[in-house]
Amino acid sequence: MAHLLIVEDDELLRDGLSAQLTQAGHRITTAEDGEAALARLSAEAFDGVVLDLGLPKIDGLSVLRQLRQRTPALPVLILTARDGIEDRVEGLNAGADDYLTKPFNRDELIARLQSMLRRASLPAFGAPPTSAHATASTLRLDPSLPRAWLGDDVIDLTQREWALLDLLVRHAGQVVSREDVLGVWQAEPGEAGGVASNALEVYVHRLRRKLAGSTLNIRNIRGLGYMLEV
Ligand code: CA
Repeated sequence: MAHLLIVEDDELLRDGLSAQLTQAGHRITTAEDGEAALARLSAEAFDGVVLDLGLPKIDGLSVLRQLRQRTPALPVLILTARDGIEDRVEGLNAGADDYLTKPFNRDELIARLQSMLRRASLPAFGAPPTSAHATASTLRLDPSLPRAWLGDDVIDLTQREWALLDLLVRHAGQVVSREDVLGVWQAEPGEAGGVASNALEVYVHRLRRKLAGSTLNIRNIRGLGYMLEV
């Protein structure tokens, strides 16, 4: 059982999700706008958040950015009504762990939530180095800076390597397509767009070498993309 915060201004959808996730065995708290969401987040501890992007008072992306500063490791799944890679990329760049585009299938939401919560509990991943629990093979990413650590050692990463690693970590155990990686790279500030798609293999190869001391492996899924495995 997990304690989840559902942030959604559409009352029907909010009540429906709440009922369904309660039935799935979770404890649910709801918020109807961004301001209420931030108030709940400072008042209580949550295991995960389902966050609509289009919200009254404070929009979802602003909620996500503020939430990330306070609780870098809290799993967040964003819901977006708008179809298009820009919103997804913006959400992922702001620190979302996963996303669903409305209208979505309720069973898929539950499945994605479960896998997000499972990943968050994997010992191979940790928050930036404030926690004392990290072992030498624990990978930690700072969500606000292009920086990563393996145990206590800083991994020397370029902006583009960091963006790739960050994307793989947030989708650990799932296939990340070449298009997803190229989309995130093109959205990076200060990076020129139009990376040749065959450059991706070079970056993956370099990342593999830099992760050599960890329990993580970047697997090549032929024809589909890459997957980070623990
Ligand atoms: Ca909305």
